[in-house]
Amino acid sequence: MQTPQVVVVGSANADLVLDIDHRPAPGETVIGSDVVTTPGGKGANQAVAAGKVGGAVAFVGCVGDDDHGALLRDSLSSAGVDLTDLRTVDAPTGTATIMVTPDGENSIIVSPGANRHVTPAMLEETRSSWGAAPVVVLQLEIPVESVAVVATGARGRVVVNAAPAARLGSAVLAAADPLVVNESEAAFLLEDAGAAAGPADDTGATARALLRLGPRSVVLTLGAAGAVVAETRRADADRPSDDVRVGDEVPPADDAAEVVRVPALRVEAVDTTGAGDSFVGALAVELAAGATLERAVRLATRVAAVAVTRRGAQTSFPTLEELERAAT
Ligand code: ADP
Repeated sequence: MQTPQVVVVGSANADLVLDIDHRPAPGETVIGSDVVTTPGGKGANQAVAAGKVGGAVAFVGCVGDDDHGALLRDSLSSAGVDLTDLRTVDAPTGTATIMVTPDGENSIIVSPGANRHVTPAMLEETRSSWGAAPVVVLQLEIPVESVAVVATGARGRVVVNAAPAARLGSAVLAAADPLVVNESEAAFLLEDAGAAAGPADDTGATARALLRLGPRSVVLTLGAAGAVVAETRRADADRPSDDVRVGDEVPPADDAAEVVRVPALRVEAVDTTGAGDSFVGALAVELAAGATLERAVRLATRVAAVAVTRRGAQTSFPTLEELERAAT
């Protein structure tokens, strides 16, 4: 197995998906469809996405000694992910029970289970795998203190996907390069910090406001509208002359931030579950290969565009060959 270039530290869940006519009211019982069980959890999703696009990836996390744990192991190892530090612990594998109503809206109950065992102590024991990795990827479905241990202890580049929305300490924010958030997570972080988000239609201003919270760079994802990249202007930024800039650069305001918009690909979206996770996994692989953040976001955008055209999370993520086919 190759030395991992990307180490994802995070959650693994079984997604238990069922259709219901309507959400149960208090005290009510509703009959749902058969349950469809698929491998999920933000951390495992990101590792699978990264492995499928050809990255040398390892996953650090915990599952239970049960069928759901086996399902996750299978999915991760089929994507070529190194599972040396995926532990089997004495707790049920985490689950996300996802109830889908006919209008397509989801109601989700997450039971963390084994993910609670991704503790600071466990991360100290596995430091040899994430401590020196070129790129480490974090999300917020494991204990916050564990996120902080890795964010502050990693020597490589740290990608922090602040999802689901939760408070981040200043040390985690300062380590994030980039901080990756969608619009609702961005709104949460800015409100939590008491910072103004800027006008709702000015996503460049929102990305700049996020940059002022302390991360080294920001990627704000906007669903079908693509993504905005904000970075502190680097003196040594070198751009290949043939790099066609599809997006329009927003001129910097009071600070030395460079903000670039990367449009999404126009596709027929069928299921956006895991879109953000496929985006983060692909982004990490491209950063580990030495790409600029903007270039990495362009690859991530292509990967996520394929993912939304297919059902499911991990099952919908494209391989490198599928990505190349989709582009022609
Ligand atoms: P999340 O899934 O975390 O809520 P977003 O909805 O912002 O995040 O989606 C993440 C990325 O997935 C977007 O930046 C975009 O590149 C891609 N994406 C999401 N929805 C679509 C869509 N309908 N069409 C094309 N690309 C999409």
